[in-house]
Amino acid sequence: AIELRGLHKRFGRDTVALDGVDLHIQAGEFFTLLGPSGCGKTTLLRILAGLEEPDQGSLMVGGKELTEVPPHRRSVNTVFQSYALFPHLSVRDNLAFGLKMRGLPAAKRDAKVDEIADFIKLGDLVDRRVDQLSGGQRQRIALARALVCEPDVLLLDEPLSALDAGLRSQLQVELQRLQKRLGMTFVFVTHDQDEAMVMSDRIAVLDSGNIQQVGAPNDVYERPANAFVARFMGHDN
Ligand code: ATP
Repeated sequence: AIELRGLHKRFGRDTVALDGVDLHIQAGEFFTLLGPSGCGKTTLLRILAGLEEPDQGSLMVGGKELTEVPPHRRSVNTVFQSYALFPHLSVRDNLAFGLKMRGLPAAKRDAKVDEIADFIKLGDLVDRRVDQLSGGQRQRIALARALVCEPDVLLLDEPLSALDAGLRSQLQVELQRLQKRLGMTFVFVTHDQDEAMVMSDRIAVLDSGNIQQVGAPNDVYERPANAFVARFMGHDN
């Protein structure tokens, strides 16, 4: 489980990105952070990943305080909106990169890459260069690269937002299936309420650095806690 308590984060003098966030995310859950642009979703994810430090508050994963653990020692991995792949390298080398950083010998890296490529059904994409792939293919590679290190928690920052509608709904289904099959904890960021409704076990709705409501998609939709949530979930009044 992930336990966030009283997280505050400010940028400069005036920007309060997180204004006291408390959250409990269960192990094996598909958990979505939903909210409008600038509400603090990415900041929260970056704090989980260890790319940003909170000004105040605590962050525990599996009962361990994480604020003091450097990013590469956390069992947390991230899939970014921009994919963050090396375009001039092959898919295989992209997938092996993190394993190499962790000191895994070449033969073991190859075996792991083959295993994940098979799992995500990458087929002969493995030997292509990333700059020869489509957006949807790159997204699957970015996902494979995050999974190959077998993290306990996967953070996904609007991973589908650059894709066209058809591919997007296809990958929504794929992602959700994958998460259930792996039993891994997914923390998924989106500003799209329909996407959140379809994919999540639970949703946290954020506004201006504050959690407005946490609950199962249908509960949040049918029983919004306040006017902001109601409007954001698509109610007219
Ligand atoms: P989006 O959906 O547009 O990505 P978001 O909900 O992910 O938005 P954040 O990126 O977390 O929002 O930003 C929260 C607030 O903090 C915004 O007002 C943003 O401008 C500000 N902010 C984020 N990162 C920085 C930074 N490095 N320096 C200064 N301000 C920042």
